Amino acid sequence: MLRLVRFLALLLFMTAVAARAQTRFTTVVIDAGHGGFDRGGIPGQLVPEKVMTLDVSLRLKKILQDAGYRVVMTRDSDVFVPLGTRVAIANAQRNAVFVCVHFNSAPRSGANGIETYFYSTESAPLAGSIQSAVVRGAGTENRGVRRRGYFVLRRTNIPAVLVECGFLTNQTEATFAKIPTYRQQLAQNIARGILNRPALEARTSSTNRSSRVNVGAQPFLDQRYIREAGPTHHRSSKSSKKKKSTKKKTTTKKKTTSDDDQ
Ligand SMILES: [Zn+2]
Repeated sequence: MLRLVRFLALLLFMTAVAARAQTRFTTVVIDAGHGGFDRGGIPGQLVPEKVMTLDVSLRLKKILQDAGYRVVMTRDSDVFVPLGTRVAIANAQRNAVFVCVHFNSAPRSGANGIETYFYSTESAPLAGSIQSAVVRGAGTENRGVRRRGYFVLRRTNIPAVLVECGFLTNQTEATFAKIPTYRQQLAQNIARGILNRPALEARTSSTNRSSRVNVGAQPFLDQRYIREAGPTHHRSSKSSKKKKSTKKKTTTKKKTTSDDDQ
């Protein structure tokens, strides 16, 4: 009997340790997409992505700090930060998660909705949690959670996700994005997704299931290789050669109906 009690106590302890190891973080690294000469989005886009990502990121920073978390920003002004630097900043943190904030764009103005990316398996619950929270709050199309090998997701050694907060090339979503209270709501929902992560694991299983469908339905591996071939993923190069490759990527996307803006 005593042995059984001891065993149960040990089991309970181990479960608690495992849960804590998986869910405990004290720092959130917020990565506002693009910046400086890198406006984000696609050529000719009216609402600059870099402005929106920074605004939502700064709002998110305040919410998380108020909730008692330590926040590290990869940028907090309109400057260009290379992807390698963003990753290095993230990897220098302990007990941390990495959250990239982006907005989507597509040549087809009808493309809309929210999607969240992850790469490592350990990042999947966080991606699911953020996706659920943001979609629920935004009330728009749920494009699902997707696994993709973006540079910033592959090279980070802490749980890392990239949330696409809607399409700035979609009239409705761009109109919303321009409203400060909507951006505040986006930030609040991202924060909710980050902070609720442990409790949401079970509930996000359906989101993850749908992500597998999404991943299978599109040639994401090819795109990953395209991105891996370059030194950076989120367009960050300075050369005209890069411009050419971006153009090429856009064309590819048109064909594959993948609308993300990376
Ligand atoms: Zn972006």
